[in-house]
Amino acid sequence: ELYNKVLELKGNIRVFCRCRPLKSEEVAAGALMTIDFESAKDGELTVMSNGLPKKTFKFDAVFGPQANQADVFEDTAPFASSVLDGYNVCIFAYGQTGTGKTFTMEGTEEDRGVNFRTLEQVFHMIKEREKLFRYDVSVSVLEVYNEQIQDLLVSDSQPGVAAKRLEIRQAGDGLHHVPGLVEAKVHNMSEVWQVLRTGSNARAVGSTNANEHSSRSHCIHCVMVKGENLLNGECTKSKLWLVDLAGSERIAKTEVQGERLKETQNINKSLSALGDVISALATKSPHIPFRNSKLTHLLQDSLGGDSKTLMFLQISPNENDLGETLCSLNFASRVR
Ligand code: ADP
Ligand code: MG
Repeated sequence: ELYNKVLELKGNIRVFCRCRPLKSEEVAAGALMTIDFESAKDGELTVMSNGLPKKTFKFDAVFGPQANQADVFEDTAPFASSVLDGYNVCIFAYGQTGTGKTFTMEGTEEDRGVNFRTLEQVFHMIKEREKLFRYDVSVSVLEVYNEQIQDLLVSDSQPGVAAKRLEIRQAGDGLHHVPGLVEAKVHNMSEVWQVLRTGSNARAVGSTNANEHSSRSHCIHCVMVKGENLLNGECTKSKLWLVDLAGSERIAKTEVQGERLKETQNINKSLSALGDVISALATKSPHIPFRNSKLTHLLQDSLGGDSKTLMFLQISPNENDLGETLCSLNFASRVR
């Protein structure tokens, strides 16, 4: 009962923790599980160290190594539905590189993730409501890397040619937008799949190591929905943001220099700015520091107010990763 009260007070922010399975090479190397799922209660998770319970954390939901994409989406679906009702929604995946952020959001071709499933749900509901509402859906795919915004639906990224720099502007109505960003109209799931593929392929272009690059940039999908009530002509406009964040691992400053150091600083800056904004919203602070990073500035209209936020906190079950896992769990405690 007390727990429910806490949730209510915290308003429209939900945190789901997802732990990936141990990989076969980790099992082969005799890795120990650092999370006790056997005694796990609803929404609770206990971190183990040297076989002893160390600390217990509470979430709105916990998905263990056995949970599949459909299980995870079952609890995510209400966020997709909210968008058609006119709410702005942000869904983030946060965590150390290799914990399953991209698996949760993008998934694989056989095992599609939240991005695809959310849009599938949106189109399913549009069909159900077609006698009462008319909807327009468009999708943008962008990346924030080193505090710069790049359009992943523009195919001008020739090697050696600097991509067009995009900036955030505030329009007369007070809303924030990115002039010049491609908004691809989508009418069905095959068009959605096309757009998702294009974005994901563009992400790999122009970097010598695609995995390394993706772990240092935020990959963002923005789904814009315009709705018209056919009975009374009332219109709604809402945005759904799907964000695969840069890896949260701490990199010792002494280990990196030059470009890498700047990158590291920018990642730390934007992830802590995100934590600051969400925790300021959760505690109803009068000042919300949106302007401290490109990411929070971009999402400003969709964080707070009556918008809804879902954070997937991705963790590793491997005791070797315990330090980073505790950092992530503590980050989550700060935002909810
Ligand atoms: P991140 O994006 O956080 O760096 P990835 O999504 O790339 O992590 O995941 C790392 C690896 O672990 C990938 O091979 C991915 O397929 C696998 N993986 C992650 N989460 C799961 C899961 N819940 N079930 C099965 N495999 C997973
Ligand atoms: Mg990834």
